[in-house]
Order: sequence, then structure tokens, then C-alpha cells
Amino acid sequence: MKSETIAAIATGLTNAGISVIRISGEEAISVADRIFCAKGGKKLAEQKSHTIHYGTICDGDEVIDEVIVLLMRAPASYTTEDTVEIDCHGGMFVTKKILETVIRYGAVPASPGEFTKRAFLNGRIDLSQAESVMDLIQAKNEFARKSSIYQLSGTLSKEIKKIREVILHEIAFIESALDDPEHTSLDDYPQKLHNIVDNLLISLEKLLASSDNGKLLKEGISTVIVGKPNAGKSSFLNTILGEERAIVTDIAGTTRDILEEQIQLDGILLNIIDTAGIRKTEDIVEKIGVDRAKQYVDKADLVIYVVDSSTALDENDDEIMELLKEHKVIVLLNKSDLNPITTEQQIRSRMGEDHKFCAVLSVSAKCHTGIETFSQTVQDMFFHGEINMNEEISITNIRHKTALQEAISGLKLVEQSIRDRMPEDFYSIDLMHAYESLGSITGESVGEDLVNEIFSKFCMGK
Ligand code: GDP
Repeated sequence: MKSETIAAIATGLTNAGISVIRISGEEAISVADRIFCAKGGKKLAEQKSHTIHYGTICDGDEVIDEVIVLLMRAPASYTTEDTVEIDCHGGMFVTKKILETVIRYGAVPASPGEFTKRAFLNGRIDLSQAESVMDLIQAKNEFARKSSIYQLSGTLSKEIKKIREVILHEIAFIESALDDPEHTSLDDYPQKLHNIVDNLLISLEKLLASSDNGKLLKEGISTVIVGKPNAGKSSFLNTILGEERAIVTDIAGTTRDILEEQIQLDGILLNIIDTAGIRKTEDIVEKIGVDRAKQYVDKADLVIYVVDSSTALDENDDEIMELLKEHKVIVLLNKSDLNPITTEQQIRSRMGEDHKFCAVLSVSAKCHTGIETFSQTVQDMFFHGEINMNEEISITNIRHKTALQEAISGLKLVEQSIRDRMPEDFYSIDLMHAYESLGSITGESVGEDLVNEIFSKFCMGK
């Protein structure tokens, strides 16, 4: 079936130096030739693949823009189809006008992610690689970037394929032995299969273990900072923000938009909501804004409770500590450069000795001391073992994680059936379940609906 030729603006929808309009499909070159007038007069159809051409985009006699055009013939392109990219001036108006012209002359508007979807459907990349493209675009830190570019290169897919091949081999063996019991004996087979499944489980569990670290590293730890006025919350934030103030995002859906700061601390992303900010916007001076803070505390992975250690604790602190029960808390005894009045013991006795996840640290936002211990404490609280930013596969996608869990439970059932001395065809049912679950990661066993859903989350023009 002949697929349509699609087009979209591939760059951001703001004024910029240049914009890129991408056209892909069987008609890409002829559509471009209808509107592109090359300086030398030659048609793109006569040009070689992977060449660049200077000229204008014209609608009839009217010149719309001066452009550079990139020509990539199938199959050596992102989508594996004939592709033309138009680099035009980056004004939104002119960019849209060129896209409109491209569409008027024969292309259809691409849906979100359609270029990548074609790369997947045409077999150039598998589903996990396609998803890593989106992850790479959305990467907000070094870990997210590294893990997605690593996944894009096909490392996860290779590992999954290797495991699937082993499973398939065993399914085939069981089937053939059941079909032809005279020639293939299953006498010692259950123990052998048990060993094989054991090894597969080790590999899968290792992948799964990477997912907790992976998710946190990629998305960041949602953090709320609380404390009485003047405890030093803003000062502490500024200290850890240092030079690395990254992105400030508005969180919509609150009665007043509040600010979330993203802070990179030794490679770990903290998404910090400063409740002091909440208090100020509501203009309730000297009130802690407990209700508001509670809402955020309940949703947070981590609460940083800043205490001015040069003053005594009071009933406001009790009120705050009441909020922090059952949460992971780092209490910062700030202003350690001054005379200490409040101590760790006092905090612990008020907090309750049985508070499971509480660390108490001495810091001075003013003198920048205690920051390293703070960062180490965050790592210890949230990450299992070493945080690996290097060439290890990290599962960062919840869909992949669920598929791994399914595969693991399938293989555990196989072991159970072996222990229960069940007939061999029971093994193949669960082996097949594991095989298919793993196939959903690479896209070998997924339905069209899921594929459409995954790509609908992509951005336009990708
Ligand atoms: P917030 O209301 O909790 O955000 O507190 P601020 O960060 O605005 O700090 C309140 C006051 O305490 C300011 O005058 C800061 O300069 C001071 N302060 C903050 N941290 C320290 C510290 O570590 N040592 C000393 N001596 N003063 C500090």
C-alpha cells in the first residue's frame, strides 16, 4: 500500500534563527520540486541523495522565502523513506506559510510522532528505540540524556532479544519433544530448564533493579522545603542552586501558580517546591501556611525541613513535625555557624524515635557547609547501591518496567511448575507469556492501539 507523504514543522514553535520543515514519503521529492526553485535550476529529482541545495520556496510566481534544502533518498533517512528537509528563516509566520504551501502542493500534515512511527513500522528502529527518541528530547539532565542515547543505540533491545531467543529455543525444544517423544527425551530436561530460567531471571532482575534508580534519576525527586520564616529556606535553596539554576517551571492547576525549582545536585535532579513561596504569594505574614504545605508534603518523595538551630523550637515546629510523619525527611539544623540552641536530640525526641526515614544534619547556608553531606544523604535515602551513569542499561520507562515484571512472573511460574512436577506443556505456556511480555518492549508483540498510543505522546514533527 502506498503511504501518504507527510509534512510538519520539526523545530520549536517560536521565532528562531531557522526552522526546519520535514517532508517524508514517496512523493516527498516531487512535492518539494513543485515549490523549490534551486539556484542552479536543477530539480531535486535529478540530484543525488544526501546533498544540500540553495534556492527559494515559491508559490507560483510568489517567492515565500530563501531556503536551504536537504535531500535524503530512501532508505538512508530517518523514516527510511524519501525525505526532504527545508531550512527556512525561523519566523513563525514564514515557517507556517511554507508548511501550508507544502501541504497545498501534495503532502498531508503529519500527526505527532509520525516520522518516528514510520521509522519503527519500516523496521529501522524498534519500539524501545523509538521511545528513547522521545526520552532524549525530554531529557532534563545528564543521566536522562545518557540513558536514552544508550537505549537509542539498541542496547536494551539487544539484551531483550538475547533473552527472548533463549526462551524461544526452550519453547521449541519442548514442543518438538512433545510431538516426537520417541526421538527427543525430556527425562533430565526439567532440571536443565530450571537452571536456564534461573540465569534468565538474574538478568531480568538486574534490569528491573535499574528501574527505580532510573526513574528517579530521569524524572527527579519531588522535594518540598518547609520551615518557619527566617529559618533559612531561601538561603539554603540559593546555596544549592549555586550556578546550576536550571529550569523554573510553573505548576498549573494550583489556585496560585507556584514555582518549582529544578536543581541538579551531583547528578541527581531535585524538583523543589519552596513552601515559603506559597506563604508569600498568599501574603499571610508569619503564618506557616500549614494546610498548603501539607498538600505538597503528602505528594513529595522528600521533605527538607529547615530549622534555625540558633533559636529554640516552638509550637510551630511541632505543627510542622506533625506533618512530616511517615515521610522521608532531611532536617537541616541551619545556621551552624551561630551558637547552637536546638540540637539533633531535641529534633529526634519531638519527631518521635520511631520516625523511620529521618536524617538530621548540621548545615550553614551562609557559610556553605554541610552541602556535601546533604547530597550524600539524598543518595543514600533514594538510590540502591552506586548510581551508575555509565554504560549500564537503565530501565527508565514504566511500560518497559511492567513488561519486565510480567516476564519475571512468567518465568517464576515456570520454576514453580518444575518444582511441582507439572507436565511439560505447562512450562511452554508460561515461557510463552514471558516471551511475549519481553516482545512488547521491542514492539515485536504489540497491538496497533498501543503503538498509536505511544506515538501520540510524541511531539509534532518528530
Ligand atoms: P526563609 O524565610 O526561611 O527563606 O529564610 P531566609 O533564607 O530568608 O533567611 C533568613 C535570615 O537568616 C537571613 O537574614 C539570612 O541571611 C539568615 N541566614 C540564613 N542562613 C543562615 C546561616 O546559615 N547562618 C547565618 N548566620 N544566617 C543565616
